[in-house]
Amino acid sequence: MLTTIFLFAACNEGKKTDTETIADDIDYTTFEYKVDRFADIEILRYPVSGFNSLSLQQKELIYYLSQAALEGRDILWDQHNRYNLTIRRVCEGLYENYMGDKSSDDWKNFETYLKQIWMANGIHHHYSEDKIMPQFSQEYFTTIVKSVDPGRMPFRDGMAADETLNEIIPVMFDPAVMPKRMSQAQGSDIVQTSAVNFYEEVTQIEGENFYNSMRDPNDNTPVSYGLNSKVIKENGEVVEKVWKLGGMYDKAIERIIGWLEKASAIAESEQQKDIIDTLIEFYRSGSLQTFDDYSVKWVKDTDSRIDFINGFIETYTDPMGLKGSWESIVNFKSIEASKRTSIISDNAQWFEDNSPVDDRFKKEEVKGVSAKVITVGILGGDTYPATPIGINLPNADWIRRDHGSKSVTIDNITFAYDKASEGNGFKEEFMCSDAEIELSRKYGTVTDNLHTDLHECLGHGSGKLLPGVSTDVLQAYGSPLEETRADLFALYFLADPKLVELGLVSDQDAYKAQYYSYIMNGAMTQLTRIQPGKDIEQAHMRNRATISNWVLEKGKEDNVVALEKKDDKTYLVVNDYEKLRVLFGELLSEVQRIKSEGDFEAAKALIETYGVKVNQDIHKEVLSRYESLDIAPYKGFVNPVYKLVTDDNGNVVDVTVSYNENYIDQQMRYSRQYSVLPLKN
Ligand code: ZN
Repeated sequence: MLTTIFLFAACNEGKKTDTETIADDIDYTTFEYKVDRFADIEILRYPVSGFNSLSLQQKELIYYLSQAALEGRDILWDQHNRYNLTIRRVCEGLYENYMGDKSSDDWKNFETYLKQIWMANGIHHHYSEDKIMPQFSQEYFTTIVKSVDPGRMPFRDGMAADETLNEIIPVMFDPAVMPKRMSQAQGSDIVQTSAVNFYEEVTQIEGENFYNSMRDPNDNTPVSYGLNSKVIKENGEVVEKVWKLGGMYDKAIERIIGWLEKASAIAESEQQKDIIDTLIEFYRSGSLQTFDDYSVKWVKDTDSRIDFINGFIETYTDPMGLKGSWESIVNFKSIEASKRTSIISDNAQWFEDNSPVDDRFKKEEVKGVSAKVITVGILGGDTYPATPIGINLPNADWIRRDHGSKSVTIDNITFAYDKASEGNGFKEEFMCSDAEIELSRKYGTVTDNLHTDLHECLGHGSGKLLPGVSTDVLQAYGSPLEETRADLFALYFLADPKLVELGLVSDQDAYKAQYYSYIMNGAMTQLTRIQPGKDIEQAHMRNRATISNWVLEKGKEDNVVALEKKDDKTYLVVNDYEKLRVLFGELLSEVQRIKSEGDFEAAKALIETYGVKVNQDIHKEVLSRYESLDIAPYKGFVNPVYKLVTDDNGNVVDVTVSYNENYIDQQMRYSRQYSVLPLKN
């Protein structure tokens, strides 16, 4: 199950946020949210609101956990592609040591390339999965590499510049070599055509057979097979190289463990100490059983103020959906804002009972939906620089079934997005009239946040599979379908009078702001993230397109919702919001049936019909209207910098946080400070 959701810059542009909820010692009037801008990317900065009011022990705990979060960076780089670390270090070596002309277009394009691969944690775009093509020539690159003293360059084990270049140049410059980080192309071998470093010299069939032979259909609590290993061939046989201390990624894992041990020593409680110690044990042994033990303990801890994710978590980047990309987030609970999510989770059973799905697919008893709003202190691995705004973990189905899941909404990231996008003209360009713009200004933020809360706290946890059905049968359609289900659950209930009754919104019409922006995004404006002529690939984008295009088709007959032309521009027009809600309910009911019954053919038909192909005319139009606004379609973040303050005896007396590091300096510092893996693993 794939559960991290990413903010769509497009659907959240220009909204206002209530700063009063985050009043503390940060001066928000002078805080600089915008850090850098290049290619299709804007880099922002987020404030860690409330950090200075934490206790010294809590701050110190955040410090150690944040170090552990940064140490895994190179694991992710290597997971994404086995040439990534070599390419990055050669480029960084050039960046630091090249003495030639730095005012040329070639050099500027080289700098942009380096910024792009930092953003993607590798040479493939973080979102589209396509290889990032350098806008400078292979000849230029070769010339500048050779102009630098080889002693200053990271050529592996005495490899000469020529050898290194021979190895990386086709990977960087030849569009036919490793074109996609993850391939989902129907009918191809998705393992062999994916550039990720999860499998080497192994075919899709061999990979499937390898893991199918491990699965026991009678095991009610299976481990997440394949989560923490690379699959290779050794003497003709398929084997796993496990990511653990003493195994693959040893050096980085050793450092992660070192910081976790310091964190364990000052944990907030015995319970939290036990959680951290179990994670350490997992990194030492590589045992997936221990990882499940850790996940169960982690999901039960709802009392600690400080919390974290650290490990091999989401499986989006593996074409087979098994391998966990390394990620970490360190955070603390935002007490005031969490009242909202606890109201929702306290009423979880009501929502389940009143959902429009068939009773056979409902949970009789919704377990442990724990939900909170958090402030992020550090982003690491797969959550940096591009980051989710909501997370629901753990991913193991049986743990969710037996122990529930933990769901978070990340407040300070959303806040930074909002601040950075104020006044960018997006709504004015794409919304059909002042009424929609006004509605969005008034209720955009509150309904966006509620959508995220409902999606994470309730949507993913709702419903049940029929006995004997496994989610694996939906294969590549499993994750877009699951996101579709969670989004529909949120959309359906956003319009429910229950939300007004619970005090979550003040106005029964507020949901209309979200309905409008959701479909506008899914059917139109999210296409700003797709290159002309390409299909939609990313799971969340497929989900949003599926929902939006489906209701547009079904809503035609009664004139519920439509795309209409006005002065040569296409706009979304919603004529009947109540009937739109009925349509969301109908689709939710069908999607839940597909998931509960494991109906692969229906999942495939739904996603392929509505969620993959792009209307070329609309795409062209949206791209040109968007271009005129000059908004970056993707956002990333820099982290704050934490420092331990010690007295003369070496005792920690404070932890400070500062926000003045820029994007290049941060990436270069991380590469110096947290880079211990060999170039190839
Ligand atoms: Zn989700």
